[in-house]
This record gives sequence, C-alpha cells and structure tokens, in this order.
Amino acid sequence: MNTKILRNLAFTIFTCYVTIAVSETPHWSHDEQSTWWAIQDTTQNVPLNYPFGECGIGKHQSPVDLASATIIDSKSLNKLAALYDTDTAPVFFNSGHGIQVNTSEDYSGVLMIGEESFPLIQFHFHEPSEHVVGGKSFPAELHYVHINEDGRIIVLAVAVDIGEENPVFGTILDNIPHEEGGQNASSGIQINPAELLPADLDPANLDYYTVAGSLTTPPCSEGVQWYLLPKVITISAAQLVQLKDIYTNNARAPQNLNGRSLLSTQ
Ligand SMILES: [Zn+2]
Repeated sequence: MNTKILRNLAFTIFTCYVTIAVSETPHWSHDEQSTWWAIQDTTQNVPLNYPFGECGIGKHQSPVDLASATIIDSKSLNKLAALYDTDTAPVFFNSGHGIQVNTSEDYSGVLMIGEESFPLIQFHFHEPSEHVVGGKSFPAELHYVHINEDGRIIVLAVAVDIGEENPVFGTILDNIPHEEGGQNASSGIQINPAELLPADLDPANLDYYTVAGSLTTPPCSEGVQWYLLPKVITISAAQLVQLKDIYTNNARAPQNLNGRSLLSTQ
C-alpha cells in the first residue's frame, strides 16, 4: 500500500467530513455517545445500517480507567521510540469533533515499536482526558495516531495538565480554523510533534503502559493498540480556556475492561 492510499485510508477513518463525502456515514456527536451504537444509516441494509454497532457490542473498547486494570510489569516489552522530526507543511484541521494536526504527505516521522515502524498520520486533543485514573480525568489528552502499511493503528496518548504555557500548543491554537471541517494547509508554519512530548522523557526510549483497545470515536473499531505515557505535559489555564472555546467535552467515557490487563515497562 503506498503512502497516498494509506493517507486516504487514514482520512476516511478519522475525518467526519471525508467520511460523509465518501459513504454518507451518519452524523454523530459526543453528547449522544451512550447511543452511538444505535445510530442508523438508512441508506444501508442489515447489518450495515448500524455502522457504529461496535461502539456498543465491542469488548475491547477505549478509553479505560487505568486504576481499574491489573498492571503487569514486564521488562521484556518492545522498546518504544517516537522518532518525530519537523513537519514543514502540517495541516491544521478542525475535524468537527476536535482540533487536529494532519502531517504532510511526505512527512517521515514514525513511532518505532521494537523493529516495527508506524508513520505518524495526525495528532489531536480531547477535553477533558479520555483515559482516567480512579475516575479522575486530566484537563485534556493528546493522541498521536499512527497507521502502518497493513492498516494497523497505534495511538500514543499523553495526559495534559495545567501548568506552564505550551508554545507548540499555542501555535496549534493560533492556526486551527474555527469552522467545522476547516483546513489550514498554507500557514507556512513548521511543527515538530516531538516538542509536545513530556520534556523529561527520552523520545528514543519511552517507558509506557500498553493496552488493547479501539478508536474512541465512531465507528469505535477495535484492534487499536494504545501506548500511554507515565508523564504529563502542561498547557496554561488560559490555553485550556482557548481550547474549550473551540471544543469542550469531546471525550468518550471510560469503557468496561472486560478482563484486559495493562502491560508496563516500569
Ligand atoms: Zn483521540
């Protein structure tokens, strides 16, 4: 699968607008997340008329409450390396469900899991966080989304707390279009996604928790492997207000673990 096809696949999965244009997938919102499974596509016959059914019947859904899971320490887990470099032409995108940065077509940044390489396709934010700890959420959560040539999806998640102002996040806020579906592809701004990682971690050898899960937005497809960092990044209180001015409460509630464990390098 070449890069162009890969990106088309990624955009179909992750952008509501493109999805609507291609397949007329029904509209959804975070307000109605308890009944995403029941949303009907009246242009389709059984069983395709429930395109988001997995949101309701899936047994490996995301996010989860990390405090509810058994954590298995394992020193033998794959090494995780976020080898992100500078993107010279990122696209600032208002997806209709959150603020997002799509990497450019020739972007070379990857997440390495052991010897396997997963290209970074986009990163986006939820407010408040989706993963919680003992029922407590963080002010926001950053998701780096990677897809490899086989279509396998890996999400690297970072909790966002309130503290020091974050200049990279500020750049994103300043360049995101405020209208739903808006894309800003000609900002002339360069972004290195690695600059959003926690500063006190080595990007080439990240400690992590990992759990099997799903997309946290419709169609809630499973087979997504999650990598969660043990450290937070910060944005300022004023930046959180700015984020909430664009999107607020765009987080899915924690889902049943159904016996899943967390594996940890720590
Ligand atoms: Zn997300």
